[in-house]
Formats: sequence, structure tokens, C-alpha cells
Amino acid sequence: MKNRSPDFFSKPARIGFQIPDFEKLDKDILFPGSSTRKLRGKELANELILQCATLSKKHPLRPHLAVVLAGEDPASHVYVANKEKAFAKAGFSTETFRIPSAEVTQSRLIQLIETLNAKPDVHGILVQLPLPSGISSSNVLSAISPSKDVDGFLKENMGALALGEFSGALPCTPFGVMVLLASYGISVEGKNAVVVGRSNIVGKPAALLLLSCGATVTVCHSRTVDLPSVTKTADILVVAAGKKGLIGKEHVKAGAVVIDVGVHRNPDNTLCGDCRVEELIGHASALTPVPGGVGPMTIAMLLVNTASAAWSE
Ligand code: NAD
Repeated sequence: MKNRSPDFFSKPARIGFQIPDFEKLDKDILFPGSSTRKLRGKELANELILQCATLSKKHPLRPHLAVVLAGEDPASHVYVANKEKAFAKAGFSTETFRIPSAEVTQSRLIQLIETLNAKPDVHGILVQLPLPSGISSSNVLSAISPSKDVDGFLKENMGALALGEFSGALPCTPFGVMVLLASYGISVEGKNAVVVGRSNIVGKPAALLLLSCGATVTVCHSRTVDLPSVTKTADILVVAAGKKGLIGKEHVKAGAVVIDVGVHRNPDNTLCGDCRVEELIGHASALTPVPGGVGPMTIAMLLVNTASAAWSE
């Protein structure tokens, strides 16, 4: 029996979460006409939302997330609505503080966060990024109490991750990637993992998590020379460049596992990622779809982090 509770999952595991076993469940789910496995983040996220609902019945505290939504960025409004929906489905509560651009100042945001820090019934605080121009997101984020930083963006939580400790909240997107891999029985230990992107919210923490789990990790970024020669060494390729169609067959070793974190809206309103999926189907051994891959896992891990903040107290 495989160990489905790796170290990075120890905090959620202590309060009763389990990494779902999608290896057996999804054995025959392939991209049509190919032998490439579809890593179905949406179904896995639903499974974790169900676990939240079940565990809620055993815990007296209802996990509560405060969301700060500043400005009118339409994508941010959609992301927050999706988060609110998932929290409601799990039986968790949210309260969103909407502040129009005309009324946003750094001091007002910090004051709101300080009020939320002091409220014992608020277990997590999420500041939806990006903030309106002229506001320093690092100044605003650093006002959040580390124990309520359910995005895992603060120095205290990122620092713990850099030290190979899993005591704080892990950043939701890379955390979701690791849970996705573990659910499908894809071990990273001893594998060559390449991460494309070095942002503080995706690329860097993804590289740290993969490293902590025993992968040999290479991080590529916009200054990397000859990207395909590096990405082709990957057994596991995590792509978070934010460049539509960047990664094609010439970047990927046959049989590699490819995790596409990128999200882009097409002119016809459909979504796509950073990978040229049609080239990778039949070439990669497993691939995340966009939509329905990493995105829903990010939200599921926000729920898990909020539950951990509420129930680990
Ligand atoms: P970012 O812009 O902060 O970082 C992008 C990184 O990619 C940078 O480090 C940059 O150096 C690198 N990069 C850019 N062009 C490159 C190239 N041609 N070759 C190699 N590296 C290159 O973006 P981010 O916040 O990390 O997000 C990345 C993507 O992931 C975006 O599409 C974003 O929308 C998406 N995203 C998705 C989720 C989700 O839940 N699915 C969550 C966060 C971000």
C-alpha cells in the first residue's frame, strides 16, 4: 500500500484529510484516442470539498474566510465568486469585503486586515491579487497575521517551506499540484523535475515543494537560454510561465508528466493553458487539462488551508 500522506500533507492529515486515491479510480481515463492520462483536477477537487463537508460534521468550528477584493478587475471578481461557491459547497463560510478602486488606499486595506486579524472567528484572510495600481501588494499582504495567511504567501510561511518544514500554510497552487501528483500515484522522488516560471506564488514554491519531496529540480524563467533543451530533461514538467502555447512537443520528453498551470482566455471565451495540448496528447504520459486541472485544485487547497487554520488551533 502506497503512503498517500506525504510529509507536505502532514498538517491536513492531522485534522483528518486524506489524499484521494485517483490512481485506481481514473485508470482508464485518457485523452481521447491516446494513451495520455488526463489528470482530472476538477474531480479531485470535488473529492476534497466532500472531505471538507464530512470533516465539518466532526469539528465544532465552522471555518471562515475573509476575502478582500479591491478594485474592479473582472478576472478577480470571477476568481472570488468561484472561491465563494466552493466554500459554500463545503459548508464553510466566507465574507467578501469589496472596495471600489476610487476608495482604495493602502492604509485602508491594512486597517481592514488588522481588524480581521483581531477577530477570533476569522480563520483565514485572502487578499485577491492584483491590487489596484499604486498599492504595494507586499506591504498589504505583510499585514496579515501568519496564522491566517491561508494563501501561504507570507515570509514566515514561505520561509518555513524553504527550510523544508511544512508547519505553515503552503501556497495553494503548488500545493494543489503536489496533491494531484500524489493522488495519481506519481512519485517525484529521484525524478528530474523542471519548473518553468519563478514567481513567488507558483514557480518558486513549486520548485521548493518538489525539492522537499526528493526530486532533482531545475527552474527555468524568461532568461533561460534554449528552454527546450532544459525542459526535455524533465520526467515531471510544471509549466507556469503565463505564456499561451509556449510549450509544445519539442519541449517535452516522450512519456513525461506535464502539469499546465497557465490560464488564458481565448477570443471565443474558452480557456487554455501554456501548453499546446494537441501536440502533447499521445506524447506525454499524463497531462492536466485547462480548464479542469490545476485551477480547481488551487481552490480546494484554499479550503484545506482554511480548515487547517481553523481546526489546528
Ligand atoms: P508571473 O507572470 O508572475 O510569472 C511568470 C514566470 O514565467 C516568470 O518567472 C517568468 O520569468 C517566466 N517566463 C515568462 N516567459 C517565459 C518564457 N518564455 N520562458 C521561460 N519562462 C518564462 O505568473 P504567475 O503568477 O506565476 O502565473 C503563471 C501562470 O499561471 C499564469 O497564466 C497565471 O494565470 C496562471 N496561474 C494559474 C493558477 C491556477 O490556479 N490555475 C494560479 C496562479 C497562476
